[in-house]
Amino acid sequence: MAGRFAPSPTSDLHLGNLRTALVAWLLARTTGREFRLRVEDLDTQRVAAAPEVARRQLADLDALGLDHDGEVVWQSRRLDAYADAVAGLDTYPCYCTRREIAEAASAPHGDAFRPYPGTCLRLSASRRAELEATRRPALRVRANGASSTVQDLWAGDVTGTVDDFVVVRNDGVPAYNLAVVVDDLAMGIDQVCRGDDLLSSAPRQAWLARQLGGTSPGYAHVPLAVNPDGRRLAKRDGAVTLADLAGLGWSPAHVLTRLARSLDLAAAGEPVTTAELLARFDPSALPREPWVVDARQPTAAAWENSRSTT
Ligand code: GLU
Repeated sequence: MAGRFAPSPTSDLHLGNLRTALVAWLLARTTGREFRLRVEDLDTQRVAAAPEVARRQLADLDALGLDHDGEVVWQSRRLDAYADAVAGLDTYPCYCTRREIAEAASAPHGDAFRPYPGTCLRLSASRRAELEATRRPALRVRANGASSTVQDLWAGDVTGTVDDFVVVRNDGVPAYNLAVVVDDLAMGIDQVCRGDDLLSSAPRQAWLARQLGGTSPGYAHVPLAVNPDGRRLAKRDGAVTLADLAGLGWSPAHVLTRLARSLDLAAAGEPVTTAELLARFDPSALPREPWVVDARQPTAAAWENSRSTT
């Protein structure tokens, strides 16, 4: 039994990422699980700085005291495993561009989820030949309109339609939804704790886990950190990484305290250790609203005022 944290090495971890990692670690450790780390570097393989960013991310987790079990898994080293998994799935090539899908898919107003409309399942032979000559296909898994329900520790039962989603992109790179499921199965992950921006991906990932002969993990999606405008926290919002904060005199221990405070696990300014947090952690008391971070003036007072209020 294991939980995990699986950052993409696109930029240094910010306070929201670190807070999600802390919750994932607390949840794994307080439920007798291993805590595993995975670098999701499929998308960033051609980015020269990605290995360096990944190493800084791992060092930041270590600096906070979030220890892990086993070797760190790097997705870029597991291409054979993804190819094997795809070979066992019922897939078909898809030549559609993003724009064609957006035009063909019907979605109720305001609904970001646009199920793939199945265009490439119904191609005439001549149209297929034309597309084959001019475009590289992605591979989609055939889901036959399945529906899938997952149990989330905080959101409860979440049901989603499984569309024929992409498992290999048209540049040949395994898709996120495929790699995450193949890896979670291979690593024995039965507890997926991550940011709640991925909650809507959980039903299709759970479905895929079953297609690959596994069982779906339990889920625990943590509310994201946002800036005072309510937008997802980002580097441009100010001092949001351990390195930024170190430059302002914040030690990792200070940051840990700040994160603990945001989780209602510490009083204002109360120094805490990871051992104390393990003793205090109660998943049922986790704040359910986004964490509002005002990182423009990272003084002690500003931190206190930025306590989650929405
Ligand atoms: N790599 C993803 C991210 O950094 C997380 C994937 C997951 O936890 O399933 O957003």
